[in-house]
Amino acid sequence: MKTVIIDGGHGKKDPGGNGATGKLEKDFNLSMVLKINELLKKNPEIKVILTRSTDVFVELVDRAKIANKAKADVFLSIHANAGEASAKGSETLYTKDMDKPFATIIHKYLMSVTGLTDRKCRYQNLSVCRNTTMPAALIEPGFLTNPAEEELLFNEEFQNRLAVAMAQGICEYLGVQYGVRVTPPGTYPVPILIGDMSPFDGLLIEGKSWVPAKLILNALGARWSYALRSVYVGDTKVDTKNYDGTSYIKGTDLRDLGVVRNVFLDPDAVNTKRVLIYTL
Ligand SMILES: [Zn+2]
Repeated sequence: MKTVIIDGGHGKKDPGGNGATGKLEKDFNLSMVLKINELLKKNPEIKVILTRSTDVFVELVDRAKIANKAKADVFLSIHANAGEASAKGSETLYTKDMDKPFATIIHKYLMSVTGLTDRKCRYQNLSVCRNTTMPAALIEPGFLTNPAEEELLFNEEFQNRLAVAMAQGICEYLGVQYGVRVTPPGTYPVPILIGDMSPFDGLLIEGKSWVPAKLILNALGARWSYALRSVYVGDTKVDTKNYDGTSYIKGTDLRDLGVVRNVFLDPDAVNTKRVLIYTL
């Protein structure tokens, strides 16, 4: 069992950075840690501890104490940057030598999602990194003081993708499978992303995406039914796999039946990290 600390920067009386249109850093940080927690807590190999799960103030030294007391394996702090209106880009910060391998992985995942200017993974003397006894890193995905980046940081779909990326980065560093491995062999969990909805838990089976039929068809407002262990979309019976009380259907069937516009394996069928579904 690995213990992961997710640290949402600032809180309550300490708002952190103030966005171009007044959005607060503490709210972005809290939203992100809750999303990352939702993704990681399903993994039986990982125990997640949040330094704060509501809008409360926690001293910097107490954040490190929580992690040290829990003998955590890794510590990730979520922040957003502030500066001049023209300042832009994503960076990952670390302090201790032991932080660097973890921070490097996290930065790779961070950049894969933000697509912003790469301000690099680099050293900075930070309280939470300095005072923790395990590898720690702090992300600054973008600048709230930059109007375009503020809008991006508070975009629900962006936050969902960033949460998946951070969860995957943590799993890669810890050497645990992202999500829960499902039988039979060759079947892997994969997040299914549709617009700004919370990610759905899908499966990757032999390079094809399978989506939880009930949740996704209802979310899409599609007409469907279930009979004799098969899902019908409209009146068409589609290939169905039933695992753990959930029925899965192929993402491509949704497309072929005209329920969605397209389905993409991202970045590709061999290294799929997430499935992107585009609605009509
Ligand atoms: Zn901050």
